[in-house]
Amino acid sequence: MINTMNTTGHDSSQRFIFENADVRGEIVRLNRAYIDTVHGKNYPESVARLLGEFLAASVLLGTTIKFDGRLVLQARSKGQIALMMAECTSVGEVRGIARYDAVPTSAEFTELLRDGTLVITIDTKKGEPYQGIVALEGNSLAQCLLEYFRQSEQLATQFYFATNRDGVAAMLLQQLPAQLHKDPEVRAQHWDHYSTLARTLTDDELLDLPNAEILHRLYHEEELRVFEPHALVFKCSCSRERTARALSVLDKQEIDELVAERGGVEISCEFCGSEYNFGPGELALLFEQTEEGPTH
Ligand SMILES: [Zn+2]
Repeated sequence: MINTMNTTGHDSSQRFIFENADVRGEIVRLNRAYIDTVHGKNYPESVARLLGEFLAASVLLGTTIKFDGRLVLQARSKGQIALMMAECTSVGEVRGIARYDAVPTSAEFTELLRDGTLVITIDTKKGEPYQGIVALEGNSLAQCLLEYFRQSEQLATQFYFATNRDGVAAMLLQQLPAQLHKDPEVRAQHWDHYSTLARTLTDDELLDLPNAEILHRLYHEEELRVFEPHALVFKCSCSRERTARALSVLDKQEIDELVAERGGVEISCEFCGSEYNFGPGELALLFEQTEEGPTH
């Protein structure tokens, strides 16, 4: 199960910035939260690993913006995986799922997620949700995200992922708006240098070394400011109320049939497996309320 040899330990997200260049970075690791996410799902290893990347990516994407709410990273495809989805809240709660008809057999990203779109949604507690979309083109999630940033931002952004059976580790490098250096050539030089160095890190190093050692190995010639890590945890946002709301928009006739057959409706949460049971009386009430008009 969890690799106790991994001294880097706790699920966390840790930011660093270069003191002498307009570049920042972030290292994310998820072990416990990853295990909790895939627990009991029987995902093939390739699917579980990719879901690990999605989880880490949702955290990393969340660090590129200020928001209060939830960031959802979702891929819909005609490949072996129909839907893959990971979420991270602004307080560091993650969850995710993969959906497919036939059990995926490939380990290739391009087979698992083919002909589709990658959608990033930011649901804030106030205001309209933001949504960004990019085609699933590329041989990896990192490449798709690179393309997303190329299309939507002026700032160069690069993702690095490493997974094993115990979890996922990931790193992000991102250009900051020009402050210290305005010269585009100097900015480009800095970016090339740091992102090239980051690519020298092996998967095992990213997974197994403590953050401080990774940063020393890559950037010991640079002055870095490293911030306190933020804790990450698996937590599902499902509830009885939300499930009831989801039920109330379903076809009433179907629900009636289920009630006649089984005496009620049983819904289990896809993310965490929690079960919610609704009896005939409660269901009747639910649909009565819906018929009276939209509820908020
Ligand atoms: Zn749940």
